[in-house]
Amino acid sequence: MDVKALVPGIVPGRMDKALIEAGFADLHPPLDDHEALVAADRCYFCHDAPCATACPTTIDIPLFIRQIATGTPEAAARTILSQNILGGMCARVCPTETLCEEVCVREVAEGKPVEIGRLQRYATDTLMAADVHPFERDAPTGKRIAVVGAGPAGLACAHRLAMMGHDVVLMDARPKPGGLNEYGIAAYKSTENFAAREVEWLMQIGGIELQSGVALGRDVTLGSLQAEYDAVFLGLGLGGVNALGVEGDDKAGVGDAVSFIADLRQASDLAALPVGRDVVVIGGGMTAVDAALQSKLLGALNVTIVYRRSQERMAASPYEQELAQARGVRIICNASPVAVHGNGSVRELEFEFTADDLAPTGERFRLPADQVFRAIGQTLTGDGLPELEGRKIAVDGTGRTSVPGVWAGGDCASGGDDLTVTAVAEGRDAAEDIHASLMEQANG
Ligand SMILES: Cc1cc2nc3c(=O)[nH]c(=O)nc-3n(C[C@H](O)[C@H](O)[C@H](O)COP(=O)(O)OP(=O)(O)OC[C@H]3O[C@@H](n4cnc5c(N)ncnc54)[C@H](O)[C@@H]3O)c2cc1C
Ligand code: SF4
Repeated sequence: MDVKALVPGIVPGRMDKALIEAGFADLHPPLDDHEALVAADRCYFCHDAPCATACPTTIDIPLFIRQIATGTPEAAARTILSQNILGGMCARVCPTETLCEEVCVREVAEGKPVEIGRLQRYATDTLMAADVHPFERDAPTGKRIAVVGAGPAGLACAHRLAMMGHDVVLMDARPKPGGLNEYGIAAYKSTENFAAREVEWLMQIGGIELQSGVALGRDVTLGSLQAEYDAVFLGLGLGGVNALGVEGDDKAGVGDAVSFIADLRQASDLAALPVGRDVVVIGGGMTAVDAALQSKLLGALNVTIVYRRSQERMAASPYEQELAQARGVRIICNASPVAVHGNGSVRELEFEFTADDLAPTGERFRLPADQVFRAIGQTLTGDGLPELEGRKIAVDGTGRTSVPGVWAGGDCASGGDDLTVTAVAEGRDAAEDIHASLMEQANG
């Protein structure tokens, strides 16, 4: 039974359909040809450009911007995609304000960086609109590699391996590929079914067989994959969601933010998606901010994020926080939930203020709520995985795990930020190391 149907306050159609559609429109509309030339013209084409070093996939940013400035956006796209095959999605979702654009010389000098993300989108969109796939496969190596997880890490790994002449079987437990690009990224960042279109475009390289609905641990085991393939890459992401662990947290109306966002991303009609009147989101990361802002855009009247530490310590960037606040989301800091009240379904949430060291202060308050989202972190799920470091799969700098012949990357692997662009970098680098290792074995 659909739990949401049991909660009186969680209903569809809280706002006019046209207003909902306007709210979910493209966050950064694409640049037209003239705007792209003007934006490119602001680049100083720095030698040893700090932006390129700040990009986790080390795109040659001055080069691609120069290629745009000289009227060759397809060449610019090739420069981008040779380092980052999901350059189209990264252009939409990278927190550029804390990556490449943060260190742009013009940001430092004038407080206004070159719009690297939007220029990247201009170049990659131009190439994709021409339905061109700019890479070809090397001669077949005869090697078969299993890539488990078709999120950004798995896709980047699979594409690079296919380019180097290997045959790849890409498995994913979900019905659609793309990982959080398809099921997690905020809808206003990835409009017009971009995630699916990008995967389709990426697969044009050939040599990648997609097997959807195949789960490691249910349909295949690590042992069976090792026996059948020459190498295995795990890009499993973080499928589990942390529980609140407070009295009453099983009441109807309390759910996890990631599932809400996945439902939203898959909804064909956003106006038909139920949302509460008084929504409370617990957490301080990108997931919390996205769940809160998207609830507001669906028509929730009061949306409050409650975070246990100070606002400066929120994992969501200041830009993301401001985006939500500008749309009416309230952020309360230094408070932790202590109880969920209500008769069967949530009615109120009780919090206690916390000191900087998270110690409870004894001062409590309550917020009315008919819908509560947990966004307090995700966890790796699954048995029989390689050795863990903390709560993730332990890997070395090139993605090698404790099990010979098994690599891992992206959110499920130790080290790195949990960002799309980092997952792409780790998938790509693991593919390079898998290739080097297999070629060494073949030649040695
Ligand atoms: C709500 C939300 C919003 C975000 N917004 C942004 C953003 O704006 N910008 C940004 O840079 N980052 C953002 N992120 C983070 C970003 O989405 C992740 O860092 C990135 O997707 C990680 O890629 P991945 O390939 O490691 O994992 P995932 O994208 O999670 O993909 C993992 C894939 O593995 C599959 N899988 C899992 N277990 C199994 C199994 N046992 N067998 C087979 N397949 C399996 C899953 O179905 C999934 O398709 C966001 C994350 C969330 C949750
Ligand atoms: S991939 Fe992301 S961080 Fe790298 S240059 Fe592009 S927008 Fe900036």
